[in-house]
Amino acid sequence: MLSVAQVFIGFFLLILLMAYLIPAGLAYGYFYHSRNKSWATQKIQKNKAPTKEIMYRDIRWSLLTIFIFAVLSTVLYYLVNAGYGLLYYDIADYGWIYLPASFFIALILHDFYFYWMHRLMHHSMVFKFVHLLHHKTTSPTPWTIYAFQPPEAVVQFSIIYILVLILPLHPIVLFLFIAYNVIANVGGHCGFEFISQKNTDHWLMKYLNTVTHHDLHHANCTHNYSQYFNFLDRWYGTFRER
Ligand SMILES: [Zn+2]
Ligand SMILES: [Zn+2]
Repeated sequence: MLSVAQVFIGFFLLILLMAYLIPAGLAYGYFYHSRNKSWATQKIQKNKAPTKEIMYRDIRWSLLTIFIFAVLSTVLYYLVNAGYGLLYYDIADYGWIYLPASFFIALILHDFYFYWMHRLMHHSMVFKFVHLLHHKTTSPTPWTIYAFQPPEAVVQFSIIYILVLILPLHPIVLFLFIAYNVIANVGGHCGFEFISQKNTDHWLMKYLNTVTHHDLHHANCTHNYSQYFNFLDRWYGTFRER
């Protein structure tokens, strides 16, 4: 079996670093340095351009978060190896229908967790100790996705522990769930609305969060606490469309 240091540095730290720098870098290059200036009209907060200082601050804190994520991933790796959790490796154990179903169950559980933990982090008693830093950037960029204080990094990563411990998941589904989370996160912080009004008004698509929803959350802090879907925001009266 690999040593702790080998697992930590050789795998998780490297993978997590790439999973931040590559998608955030590509999205930043595409939206902020593309020669295709048609994007400029779709900037959500048109009067705010991100400064280098803000982006460097977001990157520094994101790198600390990645270090914390890598430590937590290594601990989880050893827990799974010790027999904890419900990861399964033979698809036949739960059948083919359960494979995509478990992906959507994971998204719904995460959205529920994210919404309530997010509202809790906005409580005045804990906000400045846990979530203030993420809101220092009022007009986010893809570099903002992991700009967390250490307690928030632990809160955000804990969903992976919860899912692995309570929900039977095939490693492929866990990987797709994390990949989708990174893409949704980078998209939600890119600062440009790339989802068309037609899709936003669609009877079913309207329940998916758009870039504008999370951008508004950074701008005013009082609405749009959910991550993927806005059912809970609509239900609890915290939804703001534009
Ligand atoms: Zn954010
Ligand atoms: Zn917030």
